[in-house]
Amino acid sequence: MSTTSFTLHATDGKARTGVISTPRGEIRTPAFMPVGTAATVKAMLPEQVRSTGADILLGNTYHLMLRPTAERIARLGGLHQFMNWDRPILTDSGGFQVMSLADLRKLTEEGVSFRSHIDGSKHMLTPERSMEIQRLLGSDIVMCFDECPALPADRKRLEESMRLSMRWAQRSRDAFGDRPGHMLFGIQQGGLEPDLREESAKALTQIGFDGYAVGGLAVGEGQEAMFGCLDHAPDTLPVDKPRYLMGVGKPDDIVGAVKRGIDMMDCVLPTRSGRTGQAFTRRGVVNIKNARHADDPRPLDEHCSCPACTGYSRAYLHHVFRSHEMISGMLLTWHNLQYFQDIMDGMRGAIAEGRFDAWEAVFHAGRAEGDIERL
Ligand SMILES: [Zn+2]
Repeated sequence: MSTTSFTLHATDGKARTGVISTPRGEIRTPAFMPVGTAATVKAMLPEQVRSTGADILLGNTYHLMLRPTAERIARLGGLHQFMNWDRPILTDSGGFQVMSLADLRKLTEEGVSFRSHIDGSKHMLTPERSMEIQRLLGSDIVMCFDECPALPADRKRLEESMRLSMRWAQRSRDAFGDRPGHMLFGIQQGGLEPDLREESAKALTQIGFDGYAVGGLAVGEGQEAMFGCLDHAPDTLPVDKPRYLMGVGKPDDIVGAVKRGIDMMDCVLPTRSGRTGQAFTRRGVVNIKNARHADDPRPLDEHCSCPACTGYSRAYLHHVFRSHEMISGMLLTWHNLQYFQDIMDGMRGAIAEGRFDAWEAVFHAGRAEGDIERL
């Protein structure tokens, strides 16, 4: 019978590197998960995403349950077959997006009732329904249904919300059942309050999960507050299970999170920015729409192996962006995903060899230098 496991290979300070094994393949950690919201990583073919070094994708329960629906995806063979990606997929629970995207939401002990932002149809998400949807999708890593309050929030609100999420975590665990080959992750809540984070970690650990997410961050608190929380939150979670920071982030957020003991992350930033003309490079952010690139024959990032950097000039990337050509979003998305995976690869190697601090210094020095001089 196929099972799953997490093996830590090395640590350097609090930074860790290892492997999550699933029947659909291994996930090298620290791992960055590109976001495939509607069963596609926008502007990319699955094999192109894979070629950047991605071991796992993230799918969004909220979007997929509304369109094309989890039941239809199940009839068509599950999400992997539907979107032609045979490697691991993590799905979120829908909890975060229902609160940020749906209309007329109503939160009760039972769950969240809401109207679809697409056609106004009525729906209900509960821990049990979220587990059912993620099972229908065929997700390899399933997330508990939780409630995530926006920050800043007062302590009473954070406390009540965290305890509701812990009751929902138990219901998620019960509804998930015994599914060999699939993992269920609990989600820690508690905002920026260390004692609530600790209480949440204790509750989750008692229930017992295959991995633990630090939830409720990257919701408007800023990097300093997020790092302040990450200075202690991962330490409250089991050492021998993967730790996932949800919805993060910019390259320096990712590096800072790994330094503090995080193993997995996801964010729409590399894909979304790619479609708006923003590229992440070793020397910081480049806005390709800027007129300074119009005559520039040099590559976006001379150290990058992606097709945008090896086959095209800044001038071309500028031109196709200005002309609203589809290849613009394709090339910049590819570049951004390649850069994010290069960061992960660099960190994994550095942690394995006990030189994370030196790697981090080079990372920050490149960014501090800024973009190449204009011609
Ligand atoms: Zn590139």
